[in-house]
Amino acid sequence: MSDDFKFDDNLVDPSLLVSDSMQTAVDMYEKRIYDLQQLLEISRSLCSTLEYSTLIESILYTCMCQMHVMGAGLFVFDDIDSNSFNLASNHTGMDVDPSVTYSIHASHPAIQFLSSHNEAITIDVLKEAIGKDTEIPQIESLHPTLIIPLFHKNRMNGILLMGERLDLGEGTDYSEYDKTQLLAIASLAAVAINNASLLEKSSTDMMTHLKLKYFFFNILTDKLDIALSQKQELGVLMFDIDFFKKFNDTWGHACGDYVLKTVAKIIKSNTREHDIASRYGGEEFTVMLPNTSKDDSMAVAERIRKEVENYDFTYENQHMKVTISIGCSVFNSETNPVTTAKDLVEQADKALYVSKHNGRNKVSFADKNIINSIEVSE
Ligand code: GH3
Ligand code: MG
Ligand code: MG
Repeated sequence: MSDDFKFDDNLVDPSLLVSDSMQTAVDMYEKRIYDLQQLLEISRSLCSTLEYSTLIESILYTCMCQMHVMGAGLFVFDDIDSNSFNLASNHTGMDVDPSVTYSIHASHPAIQFLSSHNEAITIDVLKEAIGKDTEIPQIESLHPTLIIPLFHKNRMNGILLMGERLDLGEGTDYSEYDKTQLLAIASLAAVAINNASLLEKSSTDMMTHLKLKYFFFNILTDKLDIALSQKQELGVLMFDIDFFKKFNDTWGHACGDYVLKTVAKIIKSNTREHDIASRYGGEEFTVMLPNTSKDDSMAVAERIRKEVENYDFTYENQHMKVTISIGCSVFNSETNPVTTAKDLVEQADKALYVSKHNGRNKVSFADKNIINSIEVSE
């Protein structure tokens, strides 16, 4: 094309101009291409999110943004503890009824129906299908406008609830096209949930529900990098149940398991959402405390130690005294600039040894003396 070429509208043959209906078709295909690109982007984003809670949030916000909706919730299948679909805690814009337990057993007729129909349906259609007298307060109380099952390999592993659409000039009803789009997102979400769930299961100790050692180390390595680059502190606590063998030996292994589970529950309930508690080994636990100072780490440790000491452990009507010993280490770029997760854990382990050595049921801090002491030999 020469440089002096000028396009002149008046020279265009009117017969070449697209008709209105052609224009509508072009617009429609452009929208489909745009939506497909969005799906590709959603797929990339969901499948690269393996952290469960972040993934659920991401699915909800994706669907809400795509559909211009203010509220959404997701029930996810839990086949380990309850064989039920449980509402993920990060539902958004949907008011929960405190008198309802948001868990629906897999045998409920609503679940049976949804898992045999890969369709986006309304609550009225669902009620019609299972019988108007069959109650599903877990879903009804959330007032969803649309219910979408999530299928992975022909198995339903989630139920998405979408709230009412905002009226942006096209009405508030979900069109058939919207429903197809939502089902496409739901199938991507189902794959992502399956992946995240596999990771969750393989990185979690099934007895105590705490994270396993390998996962703990991976995350601790990441958190240490963040602490190093942002000059934050990072605390590590290491716990060991005192004279644990005697519970097994006196009242049997099941009693030992009960003590383990209860101590794990106390540890977990005393840590924040972004602290990670792990079952490090048999009756040893660790907790990482991101962005936490020495004083605050020691305070968490002391709180847990006291709570275990005061807890009424009761197994088959037998009341038992349980205590734990704790070691605490804290990364600090000036006072304790360790560079590996292993070093930080080893410091906490040395401090734990000091607690044991000093009579148990104690918390010790890995100060310079302890850090420089010879290897733990107990
Ligand atoms: P200390 O105060 O020195 O820590 O004494 P302890 O008896 O706790 O010491 P030790 O580390 O020797 O005992 C740990 C015991 O924990 C040994 C092992 O049989 C038991 N154990 C490890 N895993 C489990 C488990 O999953 N369930 C039960 N019931 N016992 C376990
Ligand atoms: Mg031990
Ligand atoms: Mg022990």
